[in-house]
Amino acid sequence: MSAPIAPAHAAAAAPPPPPAGAFALVDGNNFYAACERVFEPRLRGRPLVVLSNNDGCAIARSEEAKALGVAMGAPWFRIRHLEQQAGLVALSANFALYGDMSQRLMEVAAELGQGQEIYSIDECFIDLTGLPEASARARQTRERIQRWLGLPTCIGIGPTKTLAKLANHIAKSAERKPGSYPARLAQVCNLLELTARQRDWLLQRTPVAEVWGVGPRSAAQLQAHGVQTALDLQRLDPALVRQRWSVVLERTVRELGGLACIGFEQVPAPKQQIAVTRSFGQPVTELDDLRQALSHFGSRAARKLRQQGSRAGALLVFIRTSPFRPQDAPYARSLVLPLNPPSDDTLRLVGTTLQALQALYRPGYRYAKAGVLLLDLQSGPPQAELDWGAPQAGSGRSQRLMRALDAVNDRFGAQALWLGAAGGAGGAGGAGGAGGGGGTAGCTEPAPRPWQMRQQRRSPRYTTRWDELLQVRAG
Ligand SMILES: [Mg+2]
Repeated sequence: MSAPIAPAHAAAAAPPPPPAGAFALVDGNNFYAACERVFEPRLRGRPLVVLSNNDGCAIARSEEAKALGVAMGAPWFRIRHLEQQAGLVALSANFALYGDMSQRLMEVAAELGQGQEIYSIDECFIDLTGLPEASARARQTRERIQRWLGLPTCIGIGPTKTLAKLANHIAKSAERKPGSYPARLAQVCNLLELTARQRDWLLQRTPVAEVWGVGPRSAAQLQAHGVQTALDLQRLDPALVRQRWSVVLERTVRELGGLACIGFEQVPAPKQQIAVTRSFGQPVTELDDLRQALSHFGSRAARKLRQQGSRAGALLVFIRTSPFRPQDAPYARSLVLPLNPPSDDTLRLVGTTLQALQALYRPGYRYAKAGVLLLDLQSGPPQAELDWGAPQAGSGRSQRLMRALDAVNDRFGAQALWLGAAGGAGGAGGAGGAGGGGGTAGCTEPAPRPWQMRQQRRSPRYTTRWDELLQVRAG
């Protein structure tokens, strides 16, 4: 804890003025592990990790696994001994299951407010502006998601997205680590109900590294300047922050102070996933229009991926009608396809996106929203980070093409050069195949590729494959 910097606010006793806006962040707890437990109750209470593509390293952990000291990203061979020693269960990533459960979670969460922004596979922002009884509604939504899907969530509410995210951190920590925050803030934490003084107290208990938008590097720099807590950060002079750090961090400071600077659908990418999703200005009915939109989203997602030097091991594509237009026939489906080997190549990402769309699309619906989420992100080899842009063995041609693409778009604007939505790229015409019986419950997945991922520990795709349905025996 740092020494106190500034005196407490003089006007602490007065309740906060009515907020201009209100945001909720709904977030699944240990989402991948929780999805596995829905269908395999024996896994409850046991340490559980989910492994990345090819069973490489831990990308999700249950609370019990965290308590064993399993780190995020820990290679499987390093933690394997815990299987015998501590009953650790390791499963291969089942993105088909997580993607489908995500879609269901998002549908229930959408009813909380009047606008929804899907931020990652298990997180969405909901616009609560002007709605009464936010906390009660949030509790009801949480209970529904728990009862209908079996998934635990926490919900944070605040006047800005940054504060909603922080409230979510509080809701989660209060539940997981008793004593970290007041117990009554567990599961649902609504900062709008608190006085300025109470909010400050919470911010003071929150390390600066937990603030949304503060990465590990800026956290270290801030700490070196004596900024230890979210409250310290909130009290910095925004102009100084812009000068010494960045406009992005300045925005964070203002948001912590309750001034909304980050609107709907304009957010920095989360660390574990990249999402590009949009609501359409008006309903879209034609496949061609969806192909165009999703080609753009796929290209933008690939660009973000290259900017942060990672590759994706899987991608999720979804299309859906508006939950806010009861007069439209409802349709919402998502599909997860693997990328093996993991890739940051626009052609492959867009090609795979369009393959998924082909399987998802049904004519006759008025589509209101679509998106691409990149999953299972992996960082490049260390030398590629040191010498960014150095060609890697085996994919020199594609790398040169991507660098040219990025260079043109950096110079002439993000949309200057992009793939034709005709989308033959990477297509492989995967529509074929046996999976026909799908009916409504699932989409016909493209035929399996000749290479298959090593996924020896994958659970059944309970919700998207007829032949993998959960079987229940009587008696
Ligand atoms: Mg989560």
